[in-house]
Amino acid sequence: MELWQEMLRASVDSGKDLVDRFGFDKGLADKLNSLFHIRINPYYLSLIRSQGDPIWKQCIPDAKELEEDNLPLDPLNEEADSPVPSITHRYPDRVLFLTTSQCSMYCRFCTRKRKVGDSGKISMKYIQTGLDYISAHPEIRDVILSGGDPLMLTDSNLEKILAGLRAIPHVEIIRIGTKMPCVLPMRITSKLTKMLRKYHPLYVNTHFNHPWECTAEAKKACEMLVDAGIPVGNQAVLMKGVNDDADVMLELMRKLLVMRVKPYYLYQADITKGANHFRTPVSVGLDIMDKLRGHTSGLAIPNYVIDAPGGGGKIPLLPQYVLGRNGNNIIMRNYKYDIYQYPDVEEEEKVPETMVEKKFLRKRKRPAHKKTYQPEQVQVES
Ligand code: SF4
Repeated sequence: MELWQEMLRASVDSGKDLVDRFGFDKGLADKLNSLFHIRINPYYLSLIRSQGDPIWKQCIPDAKELEEDNLPLDPLNEEADSPVPSITHRYPDRVLFLTTSQCSMYCRFCTRKRKVGDSGKISMKYIQTGLDYISAHPEIRDVILSGGDPLMLTDSNLEKILAGLRAIPHVEIIRIGTKMPCVLPMRITSKLTKMLRKYHPLYVNTHFNHPWECTAEAKKACEMLVDAGIPVGNQAVLMKGVNDDADVMLELMRKLLVMRVKPYYLYQADITKGANHFRTPVSVGLDIMDKLRGHTSGLAIPNYVIDAPGGGGKIPLLPQYVLGRNGNNIIMRNYKYDIYQYPDVEEEEKVPETMVEKKFLRKRKRPAHKKTYQPEQVQVES
């Protein structure tokens, strides 16, 4: 057994563990465990510095998870875009391929709680159906392995999936979404990277949320992936009490770059049942982005996005930099709030306003299950 597998075995993973190790009331611990599984491996547990700190909040259950919030279990409406059990096909040229239900740490904010941890819903038995679906759809050129955490699979099971994908001529890019470099960096072994490098072009997106997660072990894991020719990006989630602070986020982004990880997305927390206590106002995210851009390298700036409720996909959010127009000049402000004007290039042919509106509001062919855009919902400022 490899070290990472031994560490998994030693995880906190039951209501009883919550009672014995953290003093939870037994009834509460059992309820929390039945709502969403508990698993915290010893490595991630060792990052906790005190009760209620940003690491604790991400992995130790909270009674707030049980509050009746009437929020959806499937906030991104993934099931509506799932033609076969293992696949979510939302965007034209790429799919999400769910490979395992297991994770080395179950994040309390997980947006896929309805499936994660349940091997009846995601497992190797659906892999061939997924490969068949991808093979039958030549428009799919990019496949994102997810779950659960694909690196919970053994090297040989993961390789079967990668080899299956590489046998499909129209699959150009494979991406692996994994939290392992952050939560159990010992999973990144030289045996694993040697196998992975056979399946380029391969990308990894990992998931660090707080600078305390950027340890020497995590750095080594990320460097091993990058040294194997795999670009590594980071998808962080903005969470109350974890990283909803510009200084914390700046430190995280800088540390990621030092670990050779490119900040990719900063997600506004999804509206997920049992995770409402993690949500922050959007203004907090915009303020953080305002305090990152210009204050550190552009390389360290993630895209701040909301994954639109109901399945609209990722929508980028930016602080306001364009303040208006003065004739042909665009009036802008920089990161220090100094005002500048940029003389725009005259348009060759003025497009009538009605045409612009028509272009903006034009109806696209939408799948039947999706709502049609309603222009009257938009309020235009005068
Ligand atoms: S690692 Fe990902 S899939 Fe697993 S619990 Fe955390 S957020 Fe959910």
